[in-house]
Amino acid sequence: MKIDVSDIIDEPGTSIAFSETGHIDLYGDGSDLIATQAPFTVKGVATSTGEGIYVQANVRGTVGLTCSRCLADFDMPIEFDCEGRFVQDPDMHEYEDEDDIETFAMDGGYCVLDDMVEHGLLLNIPMKPLCDALCKGLCGVCGTNLNEEQCQCSRLQGQATLFGRKLLEALEERGKENGSSKEKDIQV
Ligand SMILES: [Zn+2]
Ligand SMILES: [Zn+2]
Repeated sequence: MKIDVSDIIDEPGTSIAFSETGHIDLYGDGSDLIATQAPFTVKGVATSTGEGIYVQANVRGTVGLTCSRCLADFDMPIEFDCEGRFVQDPDMHEYEDEDDIETFAMDGGYCVLDDMVEHGLLLNIPMKPLCDALCKGLCGVCGTNLNEEQCQCSRLQGQATLFGRKLLEALEERGKENGSSKEKDIQV
């Protein structure tokens, strides 16, 4: 995704509006592909500053994430605003202390939007994604996905007191030792 700014670069103060659609491949820490194959839409305004181009954009797309509670993969629509400064040679500029706007390298007469969008994505993707705010997660004991079914352990943990749970565990242990036929008799 890139925009041709050759018409405005030498005329400070002039702007062009743009709307681009393209794919963004973003890799997370574990080199998992975060962005899905669905195209992203980037709409905004590019303004010539004299030193380079200042870009403001609204980004819409869908990212593929893994739920931090139940480990299920899910797609999350995402929309955010971002901005960036594009200059021919970023190493020649010391903007970082002046403001929070990231600086990106221009490619001839073009602003390549991908780095700016990726930067915005990293800031806007939740650190601990949830497939649903009410996701019940996995049982810490047996690993059952509690969104799909209720396991035995969570039933015991939820209903029994600490004393009762210890008693049930002790009875279960004894049941195992004595064989499965006895287990039926002592289950509560
Ligand atoms: Zn989940
Ligand atoms: Zn369980």
